[in-house]
Amino acid sequence: MIKIKTREEIELMRESALIVSKTLGILAAEVKPGVTTLQLDKIAEEFIRDQQAIPGFLGLYDFPNTLCMSPNAQVVHGIPNDKPLKNGDIISIDCGALKNGFYGDHAYTFEVGEVAEETKKLLKVTKESLYEGIREFKVGNRVGDVGFAIQNYCESHGYGVVRELVGHGLGKKMHEDPEMPNYGKRGRGKKFKNGMVVAIEPMINLGTHKTIHLKDGWTILTADGKPSAHFEHDVAIINGKPELLSTFKYVYDALGIQSDEEDEFRQTELTNK
Ligand code: MG
Ligand code: MG
Repeated sequence: MIKIKTREEIELMRESALIVSKTLGILAAEVKPGVTTLQLDKIAEEFIRDQQAIPGFLGLYDFPNTLCMSPNAQVVHGIPNDKPLKNGDIISIDCGALKNGFYGDHAYTFEVGEVAEETKKLLKVTKESLYEGIREFKVGNRVGDVGFAIQNYCESHGYGVVRELVGHGLGKKMHEDPEMPNYGKRGRGKKFKNGMVVAIEPMINLGTHKTIHLKDGWTILTADGKPSAHFEHDVAIINGKPELLSTFKYVYDALGIQSDEEDEFRQTELTNK
């Protein structure tokens, strides 16, 4: 059942989303060759707890850490370890936090040092596809419209759209209804209403869409060993239109990137509290 949120609940969810957004901003400054994913995990956990929040993934379905850290061919759900990142890697960082009873859930794929051009383009297109999907998350549309937009955009670039993992409703639970696949058909699936909040999160592969599971029970990687990218935003429907609750602003501030990509999805001024 889809849980519709009140405006007050959406504002609480914005608070949780901003905690994960700021966490990724802090990590953005730390991602470089030589750092280990466990070191980054510790930084994230400390920051989240400093905000009087709880790491959203730690212990969820028995996941052992604060962050899902998925380098290169890992799609999602990678477990932090003590292996240093190296020049040319990419690292997808997925972060959750729980505050005031509501979850935030947000992901970004970072470049480590100098990354190959074809990989840079994968990251760019995957992030663009996230906004293609968000644009369709509005009253009058359905789940399939978001999936179609993401799939169509990514496949037009020759990329593989992961099927096994999907976006989801977000709220008092990390994973609520509806499931939000990154593939689909226009006009199909559940109808969107004001007060819905979802995490939209394309997971896109440079090569085949097929994936395999590591024996650790968590890590999912591309079947052909080619890189995979993952970007995720938390989005509500307010006044019939998509409203971003999370933001890449803190990541961009840390990386010195200028961007107005989020402006069309923000009805409420982003306060810097
Ligand atoms: Mg996530
Ligand atoms: Mg998610």
